[in-house]
Amino acid sequence: MICQICKREMPFKKRDGTHYFEKKEMLARKFLPKEDEANFLALCPVCAAKYKEFVNDDVMGDLWEAVVSADSCEIPISLGDENTGICFVETHLCDLKTILECES
Ligand SMILES: [Zn+2]
Repeated sequence: MICQICKREMPFKKRDGTHYFEKKEMLARKFLPKEDEANFLALCPVCAAKYKEFVNDDVMGDLWEAVVSADSCEIPISLGDENTGICFVETHLCDLKTILECES
């Protein structure tokens, strides 16, 4: 299992043999009032911490736009000084786009 931001394998496996990861809500309720599974990212602990630290309302506004107009499966994002991207599997991104388009 791979982190959606750094694209590295999750750092360790839990006692049950599945990967440990952090489930992070990509967009806050302000941007996406309805709770939906597609709004969650699977991140390693470091990326989850960076996301929490650097992703404010401005960044989320840009992300929202980027998802709606996405033509690839990687959504650009800057975390502090670092320009990176959130990688989605195609079905996940499609679901997310659908929800956002319905909300707007
Ligand atoms: Zn990561």
